[in-house]
Amino acid sequence: MNKTRDVFSDIYRSGWRKSVQSILQLCIGVVFITTNGWGQTYDLLLRNGELIDPKNSINGKMDIAVLDGKVAKVAASIPSNQAKKIIDVTGLIVTPGLIDIHTHVFVGGKPETFADGFLSVSPDDFTLKSGVTTVVDAGTSGWRNFPVFKEHVIDKSRTRVLAFLNIAGNGMTGSPTEQDVNDMDAYMTSLVVKKNPEIIVGVKIGHYEGADWAPFDRAIDAAAKSNTPLFVECHLPQFSLEDQLKKMRPGDIITHSFEKIDERMPVIDEQGKLRSFVIDAQKRGVLFDLGHGGAGFWFSVAVPAMKQGLAPNSFGSDLHRFSMNAGMKDMMNIMSKYMAMGMSLQEVVERATWNAAKAIHRNDLGSLTEGNVADIAVFRIREGNFGYTDAGGNVINGTKKLEAELTVRNGKVVWDLNGISGTPLNPVSASK
Ligand SMILES: [Zn+2]
Repeated sequence: MNKTRDVFSDIYRSGWRKSVQSILQLCIGVVFITTNGWGQTYDLLLRNGELIDPKNSINGKMDIAVLDGKVAKVAASIPSNQAKKIIDVTGLIVTPGLIDIHTHVFVGGKPETFADGFLSVSPDDFTLKSGVTTVVDAGTSGWRNFPVFKEHVIDKSRTRVLAFLNIAGNGMTGSPTEQDVNDMDAYMTSLVVKKNPEIIVGVKIGHYEGADWAPFDRAIDAAAKSNTPLFVECHLPQFSLEDQLKKMRPGDIITHSFEKIDERMPVIDEQGKLRSFVIDAQKRGVLFDLGHGGAGFWFSVAVPAMKQGLAPNSFGSDLHRFSMNAGMKDMMNIMSKYMAMGMSLQEVVERATWNAAKAIHRNDLGSLTEGNVADIAVFRIREGNFGYTDAGGNVINGTKKLEAELTVRNGKVVWDLNGISGTPLNPVSASK
């Protein structure tokens, strides 16, 4: 017995060990090739882009590799033989997918309403082509009709659709239902928020015409019960701006920040000075969203406010049936407009990505951190003479315009303006 064992040990020591190791390495190699396609580690590689990722303080040339819908690697150089698909984005700006925290996308067949109605828009029709991969619906639904919104729109869209839940049980249905204080239920609203933590990011109050503070107080109560921010859309004509801001908590969000309409006091006074209670609210941590929409943005308010330290924290577009064909247009246009007003490219990207993600407590979004979902915007900066309008038809000119070239959602190309992700045909076969 001992002799046999000794002989076997000798053979093993004298070379079998190396052979066994080689066979094992070969097997591992075959498994690797089978699962990764001849050594290719990534599904997609965006090469040579100018990456702006404010959360990770990246501002420079970087490659991004994607695997299984996630950001797998961000590095100065990733070998192209490691990817199944390569897109050269030399000269283009690469950012996290943009986040629009003020939209109305509960589209449906009712002709006169936003909720399940024709005044909302279908998200995929307007988002991906402007680099937006996440939208937050601003209270178009309430706790009663949220299930319809989820089934008909949220679950069917390629865009990630999140929501603020309206304190009005049926959301934006117009009068009289939207004015019914008896149907503003803090408990039911908070319950539906808590049951849908992946989708619902907060509570909304807006479009209430009465003088009773109960709707506002119940909305704050619902937000507190669900530990989420309150989103305050104006159109609360009986409440003063000062009172609204005083009731808001740090982290709550007011939108239409630079509006100039009769029913709400602007944030600057008649002399163009930022009102002191606005500065106080900002210091307390109240967040000011743009909320451009059809009537929410005026240069005569926004420019002096910015000069005095009140720039929007986020670029909510207030996308709906009317705003996209007026001065708002889309998120890229809003970003370009603020660049024409003096903001840097890095500052507009931060507002459209990381700032927006933080405001809705979704720190898993708004950056290209490795392991995050691969939502990516790629855009071109066009040079020329461009005009940007506000809600009053006033125009300023700028020399730069951002244009969405490529959008990646969940690791897949969902918008490609000039076919940079396509397969080039050679001229001979193309002409046949
Ligand atoms: Zn709105």
